[in-house]
Amino acid sequence: MTEYNLDKLALYKILKDKGITHLFHANTVSTSVTFLESKNLLSRQYIEENKLHQTPQYSDKADKDFGIFDDIFLDFIDIHKEWNRYNKYGPFLFVFSIEILKSDQIKTLRITKKNPVNWKYSEPEEEWYYSDLKEFEDNYKKGNRLKDIGSMLILKDIDGKLSLRPHLDKMILDNPNLFVNYKNEKKYLANLIGSKLRDIVEENDFTDIERGLRHKHKLWKCTCWLNYNSMLLYDIKKLKLLYHLNPNK
Ligand SMILES: [Zn+2]
Repeated sequence: MTEYNLDKLALYKILKDKGITHLFHANTVSTSVTFLESKNLLSRQYIEENKLHQTPQYSDKADKDFGIFDDIFLDFIDIHKEWNRYNKYGPFLFVFSIEILKSDQIKTLRITKKNPVNWKYSEPEEEWYYSDLKEFEDNYKKGNRLKDIGSMLILKDIDGKLSLRPHLDKMILDNPNLFVNYKNEKKYLANLIGSKLRDIVEENDFTDIERGLRHKHKLWKCTCWLNYNSMLLYDIKKLKLLYHLNPNK
């Protein structure tokens, strides 16, 4: 069904008018490393077919069934910042300029009305996607934050890849403010992961891209440190999935 494909230049203008200057993609540290090494965001399908590493996601089966497994997802908001909580997709955030919409890489795009994890097989597609940009323009960022968070950009027909350059403006890692055991020593997790990521950034020639550590020294009105701390105490597996460079080890 092509009736849900939207015009990228018209969307660019709407986002500009709404004061949206960036698009976001959050993921786990280990999947983000795969992206840095391949210099692209990659679809779940592309990674699977090319036998690269990605953190398993419970939504994979549904994404295949709904025909979005080879698509790439971007958010209109930095969910962590906007909602003052950790982003469940992961603590590593790629921040793109909306100029990326003008790039030739992007051909077909859609905007969801709600997060695909909440899609039901019994629903018609019109419940899932906006069918015209006017409706999106009238509804998005008009006071319904809960609805807004389900609106994301889906890039289709992109062969599973979206180049990080030239529109990647910034990369942000969450500081979880945790000390962990590493080789029989207590290490501050942000320093441990930060120094390994620095090497990967250097090896892949991304040193010119701005990098930030979220909540570097202190936290203000955010629940993420609490969440990360309770993962450390009660759900170490989840914390590892989010932060470990090699979660299988
Ligand atoms: Zn936070």
